[in-house]
Amino acid sequence: MESQVKSLLKNHSLRLTQGRKDVLTTFLDRNVAISHSDIETAMDGKYDRVTIYRTLKSFLDKGLIHKVLDDVGATRYAICSDSCSEAKHQHNHIHFKCQTCNETTCLDDVNIPSVTLPEGFQVTESNFLITGTCAKCA
Ligand SMILES: [Zn+2]
Ligand SMILES: [Zn+2]
Ligand SMILES: [Zn+2]
Repeated sequence: MESQVKSLLKNHSLRLTQGRKDVLTTFLDRNVAISHSDIETAMDGKYDRVTIYRTLKSFLDKGLIHKVLDDVGATRYAICSDSCSEAKHQHNHIHFKCQTCNETTCLDDVNIPSVTLPEGFQVTESNFLITGTCAKCA
């Protein structure tokens, strides 16, 4: 885990700090989309809100994590696949929210169906959320 964290930070040109290491470890541990307050709870008071906010922002900017929009409008974050970088996030996968365990996961292998937009419209980001029951809860 430790070496994975180090190489992920290095590959995304992020300097290693204890805060970044701890937050990234939480993401790798959970393997589901997590919110700012989930991270705050996991850190157990070790870092203040602002530090956690800045850490998430730097991860977002460098293509390490992406936003996952929830059906209740809460923002969660999940680890990006290898193809994301500082220049560009490249996501085309669906998010699934389980209404039983409340966990939101990236379905990395399930692509958002392609849509044809009216002329003059341009996509910046797509969000596709499916709610239901996950395999664990079924
Ligand atoms: Zn990404
Ligand atoms: Zn579930
Ligand atoms: Zn995702």
